[in-house]
This record gives sequence, structure tokens and C-alpha cells, in this order.
Amino acid sequence: MTVRVRLAPSPTGNLHIGTARTAVFNWLFARHEGGQFILRIEDTDEERSRPEYTENILTGLKWLGMTWDEGPFFQSQRLDLYREAIQKLLDQGSAYRAYDTPEELEAMREAQKAKGQAPRYDNRHRNLTDEQQAAFEAEGRTAVIRFKIDDDRTLTWNDMVRGPVTWKASDLGGDMVVARASAGGQIGQPLYNLAVVVDDIDMNITHVIRGEDHIANTAKQILLYEAFGATLPAFAHTPLILNQAGQKLSKRDGVTSIFEFQKLGFTAEALTNYMTLLGWSPPDAEELFTLPHAAEKFGFDRVNKAGAKFDWDKLDWINSQYLHALPPETLLEAILPYWQEAGYAFDLESDRNWLLPLAALIGPSLTRLPDSVAQAHFFFSEILPYSSDAKAQMQQPGAAEVVQAAVDAIASETSLSSPADVKALADQVAKAQGVKKGLVMKTLRAALMGDMQGPDLAESWVILHQRGFDVARLKAALGLVEG
Ligand code: GLU
Repeated sequence: MTVRVRLAPSPTGNLHIGTARTAVFNWLFARHEGGQFILRIEDTDEERSRPEYTENILTGLKWLGMTWDEGPFFQSQRLDLYREAIQKLLDQGSAYRAYDTPEELEAMREAQKAKGQAPRYDNRHRNLTDEQQAAFEAEGRTAVIRFKIDDDRTLTWNDMVRGPVTWKASDLGGDMVVARASAGGQIGQPLYNLAVVVDDIDMNITHVIRGEDHIANTAKQILLYEAFGATLPAFAHTPLILNQAGQKLSKRDGVTSIFEFQKLGFTAEALTNYMTLLGWSPPDAEELFTLPHAAEKFGFDRVNKAGAKFDWDKLDWINSQYLHALPPETLLEAILPYWQEAGYAFDLESDRNWLLPLAALIGPSLTRLPDSVAQAHFFFSEILPYSSDAKAQMQQPGAAEVVQAAVDAIASETSLSSPADVKALADQVAKAQGVKKGLVMKTLRAALMGDMQGPDLAESWVILHQRGFDVARLKAALGLVEG
């Protein structure tokens, strides 16, 4: 048997972290089993589905590396198939037309409420005679199609995550609507549970992997499989993603859509790595891995039943590990949009000679890509304001002489093309002036960077020297002492 799984997002919103995590689990399982991953867009809800959401979902999945083998299939293009299936249910007596008006349904619910009962359809139109039907049609009533649910049944399946799950058919709310209202004996718009089952059968899906919020649907869908005489797939209901308070992560928690994570500066590799850990624990407790590597080890035996708390610190840590390991070329590519947005001026071609070392310099201190803006601000304008600490450092005895010596060294074309050159110069100045190396380094940091904190001084100076900014800064620092 070839394993065939599917992701079936509804395009009623942007690609959400929950859907993306479901995609990751489907993808990992498919790859682990050497199977196929199918993408199906569930866009039968005409009012809520939007093409821009479909676009967002497809682009987001591609960005994450969730490559699919078949599809995307669109349910909106498969309505005939669902109508045929509904006709089959009608023909074999598993479904019927129900003519209740909204007011009648409301009155039914009110009566149930008054008796303290849970709301459900009481199946009142299950056995209408031809005459009764004709009379309703003559009144001009529309009919939904309802699928019969036998209240005496108990549904049990062996969930790949949760073990045996049992659901009483009497808790499913009565006979289920599978097609919206339509007049004149037509079949109206097919609904979610029906379309899913018809597609999963038609697409030979062997494993249905989806969020645990679909458990009640699974019970309903099993009854539909039976009605169609089809073999059941295996089911895996993955744990929900929870916020810090232990509630289901929702829009109220702020960032939930994949492109918001991208915008915050998480890489696709870090995000998929983190999502893999949201509910799954690798057998070797490894925390950093590529998707193909995770696929080798992935199995539902190590997916937790309990909800998975979203942990920003962990995601940040994983992201920082990925950023620190990126080669400067790749890191520069990733950082450039943030520098551009910050208004930093550079020419990618002619400035590559200092842009690449700059990316290499700040890479190890990045957690998220936008951190690169603050980290790199030292290098994008010739003169920087001086912090009070830097000003104080410039007032230290001997500081002005150190800076003057640096100016002189540059004037006599001392090489400053590597951090080793900078260190040699600092040693030489310390010796010539008879001052401690610490004073030299601190003073040069104050003078060149305008601050006592920041990236490595020797590497920074090389870049500033390449940019031709160092002399102006050193002179501005001397101005502080003289003033
Ligand atoms: N379309 C459903 C959703 O977006 C998923 C259905 C399924 O996976 O069976 O929640």
C-alpha cells in the first residue's frame, strides 16, 4: 500500500500556524513512508473563501518547503462529484430531503432548550411520504439533504495519536445536513463532511492527519464511509497549539499567520524545525534538524496527546542557531530587505566588499533577522552621535593621544585590511604611548563606534576603514576632547 496523505486547508484566512503544523506532520509522515502528499483546497464555502487566501496558503507552504506531490485540487471544481455521491445516498435510502423552515428549526431548538436538552435535529422529516414531500414542494419550500445517523451506533477508531477513540452517534446532533437548501428537487451546495469523505475516497487517501478539533467530524465521516461502502483510512488527530495560558492559540494571541512569522524575521527552516517539535519529540531528543532528517525519524508513536504550548523563547533560540550557521552570502540575502526598509544606503554590487564582512560580523549576535538593523547601524552613516559613556572615555588621560596616533597611522597608510592589522596597530600605539592596551581599545571603540557596546572592534574597524569612515570619526572624537 502506498501511503497517501493530504492537507486540506479552507481558504478562509491566511496560512495559520496550526494548518502549517498539520502540513508539516503530513509531509514528514509521507516522506517517512515514501508516500505521497496531496494538497486540496476546501473552497466550497463561497461566502468565506477568497482567492487571496488560497494564494497566501500556497505561497506560504512553498516558502516553508512543504512540497506536495499532487494538486492543488479545488473542491469548488468538483461539485458534480459530490452531487453524484449525494444522489447515491438518496437512491440507497441513506439520505433524504428535509423541508424544515428556519423558524421551525428555531422553535425545535427552543423547545429542547426549555427541557434542558442539547440542541439536535429530531429527524422529523426522515420518513416523509411522497404526498407530504409533494405538499411541501407545492408550498414552495426548499429542502436540505440530510444523511441518516443511527443514534444507537457507537463509533470507535484506533487513532494513531490518541489510541482508541469512542464517540456515540447520539452525540452527533441528529441527521446531518450534507447539502444546503435547494428548491425543486435539486441538490444544493454540498457541505464539508460530505465533500471531505468523497474526496478522501476518490483520492485514495490512506491516512487522515488533522487537528484534534476535527474529532467529532471523524465520527460523522466514518458513517459516510460506511454508507459509500469504502474502506476507512487511518486517522491521526494532532494536538492543538496552545498559548501560554493553555488555551487554543488564536488570532487574539497576536501573531498566528505564517507570513507574520516571516516578517518578524524567522527563517523557514527554523520555523519548520520548531513546528516539528510542537507535539512531536524525536527519539534522540535532538532539537535542531532539517525536515528530511526529521522525516527519517518521524512517527505518530512520539506525537503527544496533550496540547503543545507555543514557546517563543524556544523558537527564538532555534532561529538564532540557524542564523548563526548561515554562510555570509545567504545571511546577507536574508538581511538586505530589513536594511532596505530601515533606509540604509548601499549598492549591492559595488559595496559587497564590506557588506559581506558586515553580515559575517553581526550574524552571531542575531536572534531574529530585524535585529540586523540595530546591529548594523554603526556602519551606515559616516558620523554617529556619541553616547555619554563614549564621551567620558574620550576624556580619559591619554585618550586624545591614542586617537591622534590612529589618525597618523591611517595618514601614513598603515594597512588596516584585517583584524590582525588592527590588533598590531593597537599594540604599537600602546607601546609608543606607554599606556595599557585596554585604554587603547576602549578609546578606539569610543571614537570609532560612538558607544562602548557593539560588535567586535577589530572587525568593525576593518569595515569602517573600507568604507572610508574611520578618519572622520576619529577626528570628530578628537573634537570632543578639544571642545
Ligand atoms: N478544511 C478543513 C480545515 O481547514 C480540514 C479538513 C480535514 O483536514 O479533513 O479545517
